[in-house]
Amino acid sequence: KTMQDMPAWAAQLRDVADFPRPGIVFKDINPLLAHPQARAQALTSMVAPWQRVGIGAVLGVEARGFILGTAMAMQMALPFVPVRKPGKLPGAVVSQHYALEYGSDCIQIQADALPAGTRVLIVDDVLATGGTLAATVALARQLQLEVVGGAVLIELDGLGGRARWPVGVPLHASLVV
Ligand code: AMP
Repeated sequence: KTMQDMPAWAAQLRDVADFPRPGIVFKDINPLLAHPQARAQALTSMVAPWQRVGIGAVLGVEARGFILGTAMAMQMALPFVPVRKPGKLPGAVVSQHYALEYGSDCIQIQADALPAGTRVLIVDDVLATGGTLAATVALARQLQLEVVGGAVLIELDGLGGRARWPVGVPLHASLVV
């Protein structure tokens, strides 16, 4: 990608080589969060595709999905519901296990978070292999929520993440790299 193709806010993202493991180029969004003007531009680009979609709630995935998802929900005056790692949520929860490259992981949502049939938008910072977002779709569907969209700040192209997202449901990335 040339600089001309990049939105101005993308200059506030930082690539960190070999984090958290050798061979991974980590997309650090913290400089963007610390820059109000760029952050506002990025938020606008995340919110724009959904203005006319009719969303009932935003689901944000721990932990950076909390930050971006809450900001989106506030901008759109919608409920925000956290999707968390195991053991963090009080009361009755629903769990979704999913495979990682090495091992497995689990995410949870409170069982009474939203009424069945609520139209939800799923938010995270980075789409990589797509395992996290696919698991979040499955988790939402366990509660009979209707997944009407996905929003990520950054999509890493070439890792097959988009292919794991449900066909026919829009998935918007503000930046594809
Ligand atoms: P995946 O399930 O492989 O799509 O990975 C997505 C999750 O892992 C998201 O919650 C991201 O925050 C995180 N993640 C994966 N790869 C990266 C990366 N290169 N930079 C930053 N975060 C990443």
